[in-house]
Amino acid sequence: MFELSGTWRKTLCPYCGVGCGLLVQIEDGAVRRVKGDPEHPSSLGDVCAKAVHLPPALRTPDRLLYPQVRTRRDAELSRVPWELAVRTVADRLREIVATHGPAAIAFYGSGQLLTEEYYVASKLAKGFLGTNNFDTNSRLCMASAAAGYARSLGSDGPPGTYADIETADCFFLIGTNTAECHPVTWKRIRKRKLAAPDEVAVIVADPRFTETADIADLHLPLRPGSDIALLNAMLHVLWKDGLLDRHFIEERTRGWAQLLPVIARYTPERAAALTGLSPEIIAGAARRFGGARAAMTLWSMGINQSHIGTDKNAAILNLHLATGQIARPGAGPFSLTGQPNAMGGRETGGLAHLLPGYRQVTDAAARATVERHWGVPAGRIASSPGRAALEIFEGLREGSVRAVWIICTNPAASMPDLDLVEKALRQAELVIVQDAYHPTETTRFADVLLPAAQWPEKDGVMTNSERRLTYLPKLVDPPGEALPDAVIVTRVARELGFKDAFPYESASEIFDEFAALTAGTVCDCSGASHYRLSSVGPLQWPVPGPTHPGTPRLYTDAHFPTGDGRARLVAVEHDPPVEPPDAAYPLTLTTGRVRDHWHTLTRTAKSPALAARTREPLLEVHLRDARRAGIRDGDFVEITSRRGKAVAQARVGETIREGTCFLPFHWGRQWGFYKAANNLTLSARDPLSRQPELKACAVRLRAITEDRA
Ligand code: SF4
Repeated sequence: MFELSGTWRKTLCPYCGVGCGLLVQIEDGAVRRVKGDPEHPSSLGDVCAKAVHLPPALRTPDRLLYPQVRTRRDAELSRVPWELAVRTVADRLREIVATHGPAAIAFYGSGQLLTEEYYVASKLAKGFLGTNNFDTNSRLCMASAAAGYARSLGSDGPPGTYADIETADCFFLIGTNTAECHPVTWKRIRKRKLAAPDEVAVIVADPRFTETADIADLHLPLRPGSDIALLNAMLHVLWKDGLLDRHFIEERTRGWAQLLPVIARYTPERAAALTGLSPEIIAGAARRFGGARAAMTLWSMGINQSHIGTDKNAAILNLHLATGQIARPGAGPFSLTGQPNAMGGRETGGLAHLLPGYRQVTDAAARATVERHWGVPAGRIASSPGRAALEIFEGLREGSVRAVWIICTNPAASMPDLDLVEKALRQAELVIVQDAYHPTETTRFADVLLPAAQWPEKDGVMTNSERRLTYLPKLVDPPGEALPDAVIVTRVARELGFKDAFPYESASEIFDEFAALTAGTVCDCSGASHYRLSSVGPLQWPVPGPTHPGTPRLYTDAHFPTGDGRARLVAVEHDPPVEPPDAAYPLTLTTGRVRDHWHTLTRTAKSPALAARTREPLLEVHLRDARRAGIRDGDFVEITSRRGKAVAQARVGETIREGTCFLPFHWGRQWGFYKAANNLTLSARDPLSRQPELKACAVRLRAITEDRA
C-alpha cells in the first residue's frame, strides 16, 4: 500500500529527461530510500534502478567539501575560506575581462542545473560580464532538436505530452534506445503495445537490435547516419499512396513546393541503397505510419548527435506535418531529452545563442526586453551568439578564450576528441570548476574548485521532456561547506560589484524573476512559482497565469509561432557521416549509454548495485566483422580512430549491423586512459545547431588478447 508518512517527501529524479516523480525517505538528516511517486503525472509511480540507487551517491569519500585554490599551475590545490575563493574568482575574472575583453571568458554548464542556477549564471555572463560565451552540455544532447523545432514549427518546445502514449496506435522510434536510456517512458510504450498488440504498431530504426527493438513489429537496422534517406523515402511512399493530409499541407504549412521535388527523388529503391535496408521494409514502415490513426515519433541522440542533426529533425517534422500527425491526442513528434533539466536550460537562455523565454541574442527587441528586466544599460547584451560547447575549448586551446568557469559537468570525459579538451584546459589561464565531486577528469585541471550542493541538498525547478515543471525541495543539508550553485554564482556576482542586480535571498525569488521574463513567450511560465508547484503539483508550460492549469499540447489550433501561423516543410537531403569507413578504418563506431549508468559515472558508479551490473565498457561488434579482425567473444580489443585509441572487451553477436560497432561513453580517462570512448570521437558538428557528431566515426579493431587457451 502506498504510504506517505512525514519522512517521505516528494521530489524529482535528477537523472534523465523522463522526469520521474520520486518519494524520498529522510532519516537522521540523510536520504535512506527512494521510490516512485504515484501522483507524478509524468511517471505514475514508476522509476528505474538509477533513481532507486541514488542514496549511495550522496555521501561519498570523493564529495568536494571545501573551496580550494592553487596559486600557480604547478602548485597543489589548497583549502581556502569561501570569502577568499569568491574573491579570487571575481578578481581574476575582472582582470581577464579588463585585459582581453569579455569574449575572453566563458561559462560551461549542464543540463543537470536547476532552472534558477541556469538563470543566474546566464544573467551574470550575458547581462553583466558582457559575454554570450555561456553554453552547456545540452549542446551535446538536444541542440539539434531545439534548432529543428525552431526552424520547422517557429519555436523550440516539444509539442506533445506523455499521455499521448496511451492513445497513439503507431510508435516510430528512430535514433533512440528508449528501453535503456529513458526506461520509464519505454515501459509506458511497451504497456500500450502489449495491451493492444494488433492495434498498435511499433517501428524501431536503429543499427543495433536493442531491447527497444524487442517488441517492434518492424526493426530497421539502417546504416549509421542514413536517417534522412529513410525519412524522405517514407514520405515518398506516403505521397505516392495518397496518404498525406492535403488539407493540412495546404492550410497549415509552407514549403511543400520545395519539398516535393526532393522527396520525389527518394524512392524506396534509392533509399535502400543509402540505408542498407530493403525497399520493402521502408515501404512497410511508411504504410504503417501512414495508416495510423495517431502516430508518435520519438527520437533522441541517434538523430541529434550528427553533423546534419537539425536536418534530421526537419525530416521527422516533415513526416508529421505532411500527414497532419501533430497537435492532437496520440499524434506528434516527441524528442526525448537526455538530461533532467536540459529543457529548463533552453527556457532560461542557457545556450550561447539564447536569452530567457526562448529569445535569440540576435533579436534586438528581445535583447532590449531582457536588458530592461535585468536593469542593465541598453546595448549591454552582445548581439551575436557566443561560443558553443566545443568552440569554448577550441578558443582556450588557441588563446582567444583565457578563462572558463565549468559548472556541474565533466567535459574532460564527455566531450568528443578528449585530447583537444585536455590541451585546452591545460593551456587556459584560469579554470574554475564548480562540482559536487573531486577528483573528476575535469577537476584535475582546476585552478579554483568550488564545492557544490547537489540533489537533494538545494531547492529549485526542473522541466522534463513533456514541458512539465516540477519543484524539487531541499531535503537534506549539503556536506562540508558545499553551497547551491545559484548561491555560489550570486556571491561572485556581488563580489564583482553587481549587488543590486543579485539581491536574492532564496531560489524562489530567482524563479519569480525568471518566470516574469517568460510572460507572453511560447514557454510562458509566469503562472508558476515555487509555492504553486509545491502545493498544486507539476505543471506543463505554457502556464500564463496563476490559475492557468498548464498546457498538455502545443499548437492544438494548428497555429504555429512562425509569423504567418504556418509551419515550415523544409527540404533536406541525405549526407553521410563526416568520417565514413574506408580501407584503413573499416567500421563505423557509434557511442551511447547503458541502462544503469549516467553520464561520466560520478554518481552511478558509487552505487554497488549499479556498478555490479555494468562494471566495464563492452564493445558490441558483429560476428562477421569480428571474424574478419580475428576477434572472439570476450577478447580484449584495441579500437583505433584517427584521434586515438581505446581498449574494451568484445561482445560479439548479431545484435548490431555489420560494419558498425558500439561503445558506451560513460567511462572517462580517470577509469583507465584507454577506457574512454571519447578518445576516438570527432569534433565535426552541425552548422546550425553546433551539436557534435558523436554517433559516427571510423575505427579499426585489433584483438589484443594473447592467451586464447
Ligand atoms: S527513467 Fe530517468 S527520470 Fe525516471 S527514474 Fe530513471 S533515470 Fe530517473
